This record gives sequence, C-alpha cells and structure tokens, in this order.
Amino acid sequence: MTPSAPVLFFGHGNPMNAVTDNAYGRKWHALGRGMPRPKAILSISAHWYIEQTAVTTSAQPSTIHDFGGFPRELYEVQYAAPGDSALARRVQELLAPLTYVAPDDRWGFDHGTWSVLRHVFPDADVPVVQLSIDETKPPRFHYELARHLAPLRDQGVLVIGSGNVVHNLHTFAWGQHPVEPFDWALRFEAQVRDLILDGKHEALIDYESLGRDALLSVPTPDHFLPLVYVLALRRDDDAVTFPVEGVDGGSVSMLAVDIRATA
Ligand code: ZN
Repeated sequence: MTPSAPVLFFGHGNPMNAVTDNAYGRKWHALGRGMPRPKAILSISAHWYIEQTAVTTSAQPSTIHDFGGFPRELYEVQYAAPGDSALARRVQELLAPLTYVAPDDRWGFDHGTWSVLRHVFPDADVPVVQLSIDETKPPRFHYELARHLAPLRDQGVLVIGSGNVVHNLHTFAWGQHPVEPFDWALRFEAQVRDLILDGKHEALIDYESLGRDALLSVPTPDHFLPLVYVLALRRDDDAVTFPVEGVDGGSVSMLAVDIRATA
C-alpha cells in the first residue's frame, strides 16, 4: 500500500527566490529530498485566482512569468515538468459533488508553483497539475472543497499550497537590505502557527475575525487561501512542522507548513 503523501504549504514571497541561492531555496530542496518521490503534484497557487475552479489539462504546461520588472534571468526560467491529464480528471471527479471544475489547457505553471518547485524537484520529472482558486467563493467553500481531495494523499499525490501567511505588499520594503518585520506581521504569524498546532481550523477559516493584525497581514485572500486548502487535508494523527521560517521585507512571511503521517 502506498504510504499517504505529505501535504505542504509554501510561503513563496519574492519571485527572485526562484533563481537566488538562499536559505529558502536550500530548505525547499531539502524537503524534496526528504520525502518519497510523489507520483504527481497538485498545486494550489495564490497566482491562479480567478472566477471559477479550474484545473490544468495540458500535457506540457507552459512556464508563466506572471510578474513585471525583474531581471532577465527570471524570465528565462523554464520549469518543464509534464502535466497529468489523468490527475486533472480525478480532481474533476472528486470535486464534482461541490463544483464544476473547468478543464483549462492554456494555463500552465505560474511563479507560485515554479519558483518553489524548481528547488523542491529541480529535475522537473514529477508531473504537476494546478488547481485554481475561485475568487468568488468564501474561505469555507475552499476548505470543504479541499476536503474532497483527501483520497489523493493515499494515491501518492503531493498536494501543495503556495502563498504567504502574511502578505502585505503595500508595506513591503523592496531591496536587498534586511528590514525588521512589522510587529503585526510577527504577531499574526505566531497566532497562525499556534492555531495550526492546536488544530483550530475553524478560527483559521474565519481569519477575518482575528482582528487588526489579520487585516494587515491578509489584505486580500489570495495568498492565505492556499493554506486553507492544505489544512483541510490534515488528518488527526499527522505531525505538523514549520520547516521554513522568516519574514521578508517586513511584511511577507516565508513560513512553510509540513503535514505528514507520523508512521
Ligand atoms: Zn505571490
């Protein structure tokens, strides 16, 4: 029997992490090496935030450079992992009781997916499918939807969410110099960590009720919702760790969440 696959949330942050030799990339790489090779990956990225639930069906998804103003080397990155149309169909079937999942053969891998996976699986030999986030739906819908993906873990599919627990670009300090994280960013990140460790998923689904720190840390839902997908796939006996930590530019949390079976 295939052991149940881990579920991972990545804080992806600055797209330059894709091509920079830093602690984030090295830890992402170590995560990939420290797990059995998954059969496939289902990625829920903050950067495919559209008006419906859709799934990528292309056999050779393109690498999307969905940002502006970065050095040329970042635009030259290609993440050439294959797609997996059978997994896309399985996702459609699993989610059918809750929503229609539109097949999309035009979207490929956005930087939420490839800037991280380039480090985790640098050989790009594991098939990858992306699932969009329906921006018209509330967090609870996303949690319930993701719960229906649970059988994938037993079929060797690694589900990843890519966003950021704290993601405020209005306050973000662009540039090379390290800056101190904002107090509200640190407080909210600590609160989220505690709620995850305590299994308080309801409070995390209802994060908008957590007060001013939450409003500043999650000004829009897109980067937080991938965490909601990941939490929905947690089982009672899973171990939870935070293999990557750090706050970039004062207001972007790089926290990663690793959920996996203890046995
Ligand atoms: Zn992002």
